[in-house]
Amino acid sequence: DRSEVTYFGAGPALLPTPVLEEAAQALLNYQDTGLGVAEHSHRSPLAADIVNQAKADLAVCLDIPDDYEILFMQGGGTGEFSAVVYNFVGAWVARKQKEIFGHVQGKPTDHPELIQKLKQVVDNELKSDYLVTGGWSQKASAEAERLLGSNYVNIAADARKSNGGKFGVIPDESDWKLSKDAAFVYFCSNETVDGVEFPTAFPKSLEPGPDGKGPIVVADMSSNILTRKIPVKKFSAIFFGAQKNLGPAGVTVVIIKKSFLPQPSADLMRQLGLPIPPIIFQYEAIAKNNSLYNTLSIFDVFIIGRVLSKLLQTYPDKLDGQQAISDKKAQLIYDAIEAFPEAYRVIPSKEVRSRVNICFRVTKGGDVDAAEKAFLAEASSQGLTGLKGHRSLGGIRASNYNSIPLEGAEKLAKFIRAFATS
Ligand code: PMP
Repeated sequence: DRSEVTYFGAGPALLPTPVLEEAAQALLNYQDTGLGVAEHSHRSPLAADIVNQAKADLAVCLDIPDDYEILFMQGGGTGEFSAVVYNFVGAWVARKQKEIFGHVQGKPTDHPELIQKLKQVVDNELKSDYLVTGGWSQKASAEAERLLGSNYVNIAADARKSNGGKFGVIPDESDWKLSKDAAFVYFCSNETVDGVEFPTAFPKSLEPGPDGKGPIVVADMSSNILTRKIPVKKFSAIFFGAQKNLGPAGVTVVIIKKSFLPQPSADLMRQLGLPIPPIIFQYEAIAKNNSLYNTLSIFDVFIIGRVLSKLLQTYPDKLDGQQAISDKKAQLIYDAIEAFPEAYRVIPSKEVRSRVNICFRVTKGGDVDAAEKAFLAEASSQGLTGLKGHRSLGGIRASNYNSIPLEGAEKLAKFIRAFATS
């Protein structure tokens, strides 16, 4: 029975039981229409209501300003690794094009000498900056290198370099080698595999200067969205897959400042030797169609909507309450681990350890392998499941997403203490 299990898996994650019960009913007969929510057309008024309500509730939860667009996309966080590159390089080229072409008449291709000039600017100046702090930002930067070529990608920081080849720290901001006028600076707010989280929602050195101008910042918040307050207006874009804190796998949310939507023509990008996004990854096309450029899973958006509505009912204060609970659950679990240094070791360093993916080793008795096997088996027998660490890292990972109730975290903390002394 699901009431006997607390599942700490890294994603997909638990969904609230009342939401699933409502969803089960909605699959059979949505609002007495005799059709299920997954059967109605994505072009129907019912579907539009579901999309618009989910967008409105997300805007309230995250305090999203009016000059931002919310997009529901497909292709997962991984799809966004590519989409960010296409769209923000495109937006950068659009700005440079404006500077170089000014108000000349006709199509860009009518002005080969200006295209030549623009190409020189691209060759000399185009950079996308990546802060590599774990497996996911590493993958994102690798995709940028694959799409653009590595000369256009600047690894502004790599955490492994100051940590013996392993992730687990965030390099000091004074050591970040940011480019001048980068197309974007990319970071992953919470590294799901490595258990590393930026301690503040926005890094200090990316703040705008006194003139209000600052770098264009894009963040992957797949695993910590809706667990703490974020200053959306400081970001140019934020993306996250739904499957950890929001809903089922299948929908990826992008929050983007509208001024970054316009793209140069495909012809121009081709002449510059830069990649052109498949239309399904072009933010401008998705925005123009209210996320319904093609068939979107309205069922997935429905669940997202129910989760958001429940969040707003529980915490009308827009995430202050949710953040307090997330912090408290993480504290309970870390306190239990740290109370027994002879039995456990937290993997990442303390200042950057994640509140959301708690990664540790079981060192009790000296034989780590055997101790972790015993830990997982005993935890599982008590209904605490999904605790095995990522296959690339080993160890234990407790994913403390929003759907883990306080009692679930308490139960895990109690088990961690009992196992250490057993
Ligand atoms: N970014 C982060 C931080 C993630 O945790 C994940 C998946 N766990 C991804 C990106 C990739 O997401 P997807 O599996 O939806 O492509």
